[in-house]
Amino acid sequence: MNIILLGPPGAGKGTQAARLVDHYKMRQLSTGDMLRAAVKAGTPVGLQAKAVMERGELVSDEIVSALIDAELEAMPPEQGAIFDGYPRTKPQAASLEQILARHGRKLDHVIELEVNEDALVDRITGRYTCANCGTGYHDRYHQPKVAGVCDKCGSTEFKRRPDDNEETVRMRMQEYRAKTAPILPVYEERGIVSRVDGMASIGDVADALDAILK
Ligand code: AMP
Repeated sequence: MNIILLGPPGAGKGTQAARLVDHYKMRQLSTGDMLRAAVKAGTPVGLQAKAVMERGELVSDEIVSALIDAELEAMPPEQGAIFDGYPRTKPQAASLEQILARHGRKLDHVIELEVNEDALVDRITGRYTCANCGTGYHDRYHQPKVAGVCDKCGSTEFKRRPDDNEETVRMRMQEYRAKTAPILPVYEERGIVSRVDGMASIGDVADALDAILK
């Protein structure tokens, strides 16, 4: 099974992808995570991407498609892939078709998480993660049970993404509306698009995804 999770920043793509990984042993392919790792490691890709990401703009199509191709190359062919944050433009969607064909895969579902943009700014500007295990938290909606200690691994180190501020979030949303939403019609013509209410609780969104994937 190969699926694309689509939706503006903060829609819950990463949260839901992590659950699908646990539940279905699929692999999450998040170009955002790959780019952040490249920035942290100071690779040539990271050096090129850093400023673009801080502005909330899109990194070049060639870079992200090459990242996805390399990840798929390294995966067992029978393991399902969740594309999280990719494709984000029409050229990326075209590249994905070629990459999938080359790896003998086909796209089963494109799932769009629908959300209210003002609520998203509130969601995103409060979010942070455990620096050790990546578990997600929120200043207002989901604090660790013991203040300052990760529920899952006990770490006391947390981090916030540098692009999770209001100005950058608004830019990222604008990029989504202008460049990413227009990739949907092609998938709609193929009858593989489903829409899920991304403002529902994490559990309800997960149930809706299960119903689509079953
Ligand atoms: P994300 O973690 O998906 O919100 O991505 C964070 C940032 O990484 C985005 O705002 C872009 O600057 C960059 N990025 C991630 N995925 C892509 C992609 N598929 N195409 C272009 N830029 C991307």
